[in-house]
Amino acid sequence: MQKLYDENAPWYRGNLHTHTTLSDGHLDPDEAIQYYRKEGYSFLAITDHRRFYQYNEEKGFTLLGGTELDDNDFENHAAWHIIGVGMTKAARYSRGDKAPRMIQAVHEAGGIAVLGHPAWSLLTHRDMMSLDGIFATEIYSGVSEAFTGRGDSSEYVDVCAAKGCRHMLLGVDDTHYYDRDAFQAWIMLQAPSLSREDLMASLLAGNFYATEGGPGFRQITIDGDTIEVQCEPSQVVTFYSDAFYCDDRVQYAAAAPIRSATYKIKKSDSFVRVQLTDEKGKRSTSQYIEVNRKPV
Ligand SMILES: [Zn+2]
Ligand SMILES: [Zn+2]
Repeated sequence: MQKLYDENAPWYRGNLHTHTTLSDGHLDPDEAIQYYRKEGYSFLAITDHRRFYQYNEEKGFTLLGGTELDDNDFENHAAWHIIGVGMTKAARYSRGDKAPRMIQAVHEAGGIAVLGHPAWSLLTHRDMMSLDGIFATEIYSGVSEAFTGRGDSSEYVDVCAAKGCRHMLLGVDDTHYYDRDAFQAWIMLQAPSLSREDLMASLLAGNFYATEGGPGFRQITIDGDTIEVQCEPSQVVTFYSDAFYCDDRVQYAAAAPIRSATYKIKKSDSFVRVQLTDEKGKRSTSQYIEVNRKPV
């Protein structure tokens, strides 16, 4: 039996994609930090376009070093945006560098590489699957939804997942305006402390889920061929997998909201992703859970 979350560990709220006046954001870094602190966030990455903001730990709040490197290919209608998180120095990057070089630059600077807002970017599935070294993809993007109507990359990442390309999943604001794009999506992460080392280790271990402010996960238990989720009251619990059809995938609340649900892993499943939806349609998603792994 495997439990994905530590029922005794605290949950921390954080946004890993934030712009400030260092590039095209509307608040300066100090104002942005205060803005998120006041809302109860515990960590933030300032990820300005082609800039680097130094990481810093204060009592009760941690700033992770970050950047966003980009290559907008207008001819092919593909925007390649790579976000670096947890870097300890600036990425060595030149205008015109392509995505593989951006990913390498983030790694060389000590960070993890995130594929930004693929639905907004009009990337194909082949585009995403062509990239090595991506740690996470943004499944929910606040600014992309609020201002472009393309903030949801959930179907996109599931198609890639079904073809064998699975990244961790992030919810982010990608804050620019500190208006309709703020507090729209984030991650909830469990870590022993808010030190940079602990946050990065928990990110790498996948001890987090992405949310648009939907119901919270309490526990996910994998026991033989059964996945059980314990959650805050939800209207719909969906167990996405790479099976075309299964009759227990989408479970709706009846008389009372759902607080726990189970799913039988199908023989053809290679992953399961659990999504919780509240009465307003706000969603939360687990990471991809690998199932039916063949022994190597
Ligand atoms: Zn971007
Ligand atoms: Zn951005």
